[in-house]
Amino acid sequence: MAVLTIKDLHVSVEGKEILKGVNLEVKGGEIHAIMGPNGTGKSTLSSAIMGHPKYEVTQGSITLDGQNVLEMEVDERARAGLFLAMQYPSEISGVTNADFLRAAINARLGEGNEISLMKFIRKLDEKMAFLEMNPDMAHRYLNEGFSGGEKKRNEILQLMMLEPKIAILDEIDSGLDIDALKIVAKGINEMRSSEFGCLIITHYQRLLNYITPDYVHVMMQGRIVKSGGPELAQRLEAEGYDWIKKELGIED
Ligand code: ADP
Ligand code: MG
Ligand code: MG
Repeated sequence: MAVLTIKDLHVSVEGKEILKGVNLEVKGGEIHAIMGPNGTGKSTLSSAIMGHPKYEVTQGSITLDGQNVLEMEVDERARAGLFLAMQYPSEISGVTNADFLRAAINARLGEGNEISLMKFIRKLDEKMAFLEMNPDMAHRYLNEGFSGGEKKRNEILQLMMLEPKIAILDEIDSGLDIDALKIVAKGINEMRSSEFGCLIITHYQRLLNYITPDYVHVMMQGRIVKSGGPELAQRLEAEGYDWIKKELGIED
């Protein structure tokens, strides 16, 4: 079973410390949500996990099944089974969505274990139908001219095709209308299994109306300051973050 373990993680960006000691464990079978006000370090956490060069880990550790993630190159992290949905997915000109997916799957499976073209096409058709995607999307250049909603849906397609051990989804819900939101949630719920752990980073509670997380964490000022169950997300939706600040004596 997959376990992503983050211990006392400190991360700096351009010399400024943003994460100040994050502890978190995400196991296969679990869905965690991290919520929190803007600018508190949520995206910094996902960038650090995926190895973005701008984010310098100054202290602490990240391991996947006991292996040191911080020593891995970005592509090695993906091969080890980590998946990151970017807050701003990039466009790649000249590479179709299907080509990109097949290359990504084969990179993950490794030499000698590549997926056959037939099997790939069957799986792609099945997942695209499940996500109610227009079949044309497979042959369009990656993210080029995709609407915001199409990009997010496409990321869930990538998730379902790649079958990572642990996924980190940063604001996968931002800018989605209710129908797209439901489909994104449907995809994530379909992935739920003991082989799959998920960290959903979101500013809003609404996605969590469709995906019931096992754990909800609140991040403030670069730390996880409170953890609970789904009821914590509901209280945040109803009351905002001020009560936590008061409870913990945090100043803005
Ligand atoms: P959140 O995702 O919770 O809104 P971020 O992790 O994006 O927060 O940002 C946390 C803090 O780190 C902010 O003050 C932000 O300005 C700073 N920061 C994050 N990424 C960068 C970057 N690439 N360059 C400069 N500052 C950054
Ligand atoms: Mg932000
Ligand atoms: Mg963010």
